[in-house]
Amino acid sequence: MKAGVIGLGAMGAHMARNFAKHNKLQAVYNRTASKAQTLADACNVTACETAAELASQCDLIVICVSRDKDVLEMVNAIKSAIAAGTIVIDTSTVSADTAKQAKSILSEVNVSFLDCPVSGGVEGAKNGTLAMMVGGDETELERARAALNSIAGNIVYIGPCGSGQATKAVNQIMAAGINQAVTEALAFGKAMKLPMDKVVDIVSTGAAGNWFLSHRGKTMLADKYEPGFKLALHHKDLSICREMINGLTENNLPTVEMTLIHYQRLMDQGYGDEDISALFRLKQTILE
Ligand code: NAP
Repeated sequence: MKAGVIGLGAMGAHMARNFAKHNKLQAVYNRTASKAQTLADACNVTACETAAELASQCDLIVICVSRDKDVLEMVNAIKSAIAAGTIVIDTSTVSADTAKQAKSILSEVNVSFLDCPVSGGVEGAKNGTLAMMVGGDETELERARAALNSIAGNIVYIGPCGSGQATKAVNQIMAAGINQAVTEALAFGKAMKLPMDKVVDIVSTGAAGNWFLSHRGKTMLADKYEPGFKLALHHKDLSICREMINGLTENNLPTVEMTLIHYQRLMDQGYGDEDISALFRLKQTILE
């Protein structure tokens, strides 16, 4: 199977390059056409002018766009052009309900849909080591697995359609808590006037060590918040988590609520396109 990639942002562009590295890239499409042309030239594949054009020539379609409405827009755009037997994989982070809607739309034309959100950051996308959590038909995952091994280091089948996205919601709540803990602790260390690079080095090797501290600790201390994972996108993910839990119970999720408030403050100040480690901006002002 050869993949066509729709959405060449921070994540999708690296995925496309990794498919190409394994000779598994057929074509690319991006809303902003210049990005698709640059990537297609580098990988020697076709840059399609529309998502439908891409869908007509690929048996595996990988979507990586921003939000729920964007995924559904792309699914509707490819529906009429896609051949029966094609597999559509969505690696965007969206709600489980959106995954179910996408599956339902594509089942009308005998096309399989798998929700396959990923974790591992831009670094994981670049290195082809993403963790991929999969919802949908397991047999279809096995058909696509050899190609997906080009972009992911660990692919785990979770269960029926939507369960990949529900697992990603678990991941995003955890990421919010880790962001809260790391940015607050480093702002505290800075307020204590500690040599913070040394603090990051030693804490990273102990029981509190984690991916976010190792990959974003020193950049945030240097006041650098290039994306990364855009804060506005994590805000979108946490809003999805809140909607999912409100459907089940009246209880809320304190880490989610607090992080939504903090991110909203930063977005209001114009920092929505920065990496989520920009939460450090807020924590520093609180401790000043
Ligand atoms: P990004 O850099 O902002 O890229 C978004 C991509 O989606 C761009 O190619 C954009 O096209 C395209 N897009 C947005 N709306 C569209 C629409 N209506 N129609 C067609 N294309 C559209 O975002 P990203 O960081 O790659 O994230 C993509 C998805 O992966 C998100 O759901 C995010 O939550 C998830 N994710 C991100 C990370 C991370 O660390 N960055 C990690 C795991 C998962 P244009 O170029 O035209 O704007």
